[in-house]
Amino acid sequence: MKVPLLDLSAQNGAVEIELRAAFVDVLQSGQFILGAEVAEFEEECAEFLGVDHAVGVSSGTDALIIALMALGIGPGDEVICPSFTFFATAGSVSRVGATPVFADSCGTCFNLDLDDLKAKITPKTKAIIPVHLFGQMAEMDGIMAIAEEHELEVIEDAAQAFGASQRGKKAGSIGKCGTMSFFPTKNLGGFGDGGLVTTNDGDFAARLKDLRNHGMNPKYHHHLIGGNFRIDALQAALLRVKLPHLESYCQLRAANAAEYTRLLSRIDGVVKADQADCGCPIERAGTCSSEGAKLVLPVAYDYNDHIWNQYTLRVMDGRRDELREALLEAEIGCEIYYPRPMHWQECFSELPGVAELKLPVCEQLAGEVISLPVFPELTGEQIEHVVETIADFL
Ligand SMILES: *Cc1c(COP(=O)(O)O)cnc(C)c1O
Repeated sequence: MKVPLLDLSAQNGAVEIELRAAFVDVLQSGQFILGAEVAEFEEECAEFLGVDHAVGVSSGTDALIIALMALGIGPGDEVICPSFTFFATAGSVSRVGATPVFADSCGTCFNLDLDDLKAKITPKTKAIIPVHLFGQMAEMDGIMAIAEEHELEVIEDAAQAFGASQRGKKAGSIGKCGTMSFFPTKNLGGFGDGGLVTTNDGDFAARLKDLRNHGMNPKYHHHLIGGNFRIDALQAALLRVKLPHLESYCQLRAANAAEYTRLLSRIDGVVKADQADCGCPIERAGTCSSEGAKLVLPVAYDYNDHIWNQYTLRVMDGRRDELREALLEAEIGCEIYYPRPMHWQECFSELPGVAELKLPVCEQLAGEVISLPVFPELTGEQIEHVVETIADFL
């Protein structure tokens, strides 16, 4: 039985009639840049996310860049972000001329380690970019408290967490702003590139809107040096078709994750990670339960609504790559997010302190993690097949 890592055709096929109608509407309107579709999409996103403003942009990467630009972050400024993340988080910091400073991650929830975050603050630090990795939010109460104490801005990289929430607040609604991606593999997957910046600050939203359009306002008057960071009207129109279904996509992913956890937990040597070492306020279990385990399963903290963009295991005893081979051999899609932390990337090797930097948890995770198919349309038989293949391997 073949199990793809992701199958977009089923999800998009189910709304094909509406997608075609949305396309025809835009075609006939002749309004391809900004306009009503974009404005309505932004309003619907803001409503869904519980924020005052949402600004559609060209990608999740551009969302980060434009957020940094709007904050006036540039040369001489430091921005702290996890090293265990997708490149765009750190790359955007460099793109605006600032310096990314890498902090370690939590081995349980994969998000920023708050103790290490604090240790990385210097007088040059201007902002923190927590990443809500794999669909579970980073510990925002703690992060906001640190940010307040040191007067730092917080940009939530919510590219993988559109719709996730923590203690009743959605990702992207807590920091100064949040950035989203509509890359097709994300929970709200688009039809090409697209992104969004969320904020509750009206002036900041206005600045973002000007910056995405060459800093122009009114027409041909440029008060800022912006760029072309606009989302396409067509993209907005198509995403408007999918947004009402997002909650059900996320619920199906969560059900798949729960089924993996239920079935995998029965296997000898498979444990659920239960110790938080990121500063997350859950009870510390003393010794880490992963000791002696063959496989550690991901957990959702009880105060988090995890949307499972990825279901990511830790494979112990240096057997991760072997498991990957076994899965691929069995025609089961899987991927390593991420095999190489940012502080080991060639393009960042010249940054101050990076050559000597040690981030033990992040480095360990890079060698242990593997993500399994968890997309909404995955069937029960497919999950059983993946679990059986893993059981045979172990
Ligand atoms: C996908 C992703 C981005 C970038 O989004 P794009 O739309 O592909 O530019 C940024 N940060 C994280 C954590 C991501 O997963």
